[in-house]
Amino acid sequence: MEELEEALSDKGLTVSSVPEKGRCLFTTRDFFPGEVIISEDPYVSVPNKSAKCEWCFTSNNLKRCSACQVVCYCGNTCQKLDWKLHRVECQALSKVDKERVKSITPSIRLMVKLYLRRKLQDEKVIPITVMDNYNLVESLVSHMTDIDEKQLVLYAQMANLVSLILQWPEINVKEIAENFSKV
Ligand SMILES: [Zn+2]
Ligand SMILES: [Zn+2]
Repeated sequence: MEELEEALSDKGLTVSSVPEKGRCLFTTRDFFPGEVIISEDPYVSVPNKSAKCEWCFTSNNLKRCSACQVVCYCGNTCQKLDWKLHRVECQALSKVDKERVKSITPSIRLMVKLYLRRKLQDEKVIPITVMDNYNLVESLVSHMTDIDEKQLVLYAQMANLVSLILQWPEINVKEIAENFSKV
């Protein structure tokens, strides 16, 4: 977290905890109207409809990944840029039976990608940086105590599906449900 503080202080920002609100971002200098305060790529992302390029989100010239038939790309450039993560995602999706693949929603895919990306960063296949690491996701508040039972059951079902796709014996299904609540 010290490194994060350092990176943020260069941008005139700091992180602090406020009771009831949790972690907040504060400015340490004045910003001009229209000035960009901070910009960050998401830890993981998926198109909300399948007919979009997985990397650049365009709807043009799409081709499905021939191996998994789930993910689309607009061309080789985007496919290559996404390959480090999609290589492992593709293997996992290819093992899911055809009927079940249809029930995989963008939210489920997002969570699968989140776990795969965390694993790839643990294995140093994808580099970890101060602003791009799982700790930042982990420290988000899950609000599990604020959600109703119906929603909890839904998150539990979604978490089970994620676990089924990943097939990692050591995976913590409760943690996946909490991550759905964070998202
Ligand atoms: Zn693209
Ligand atoms: Zn694929």
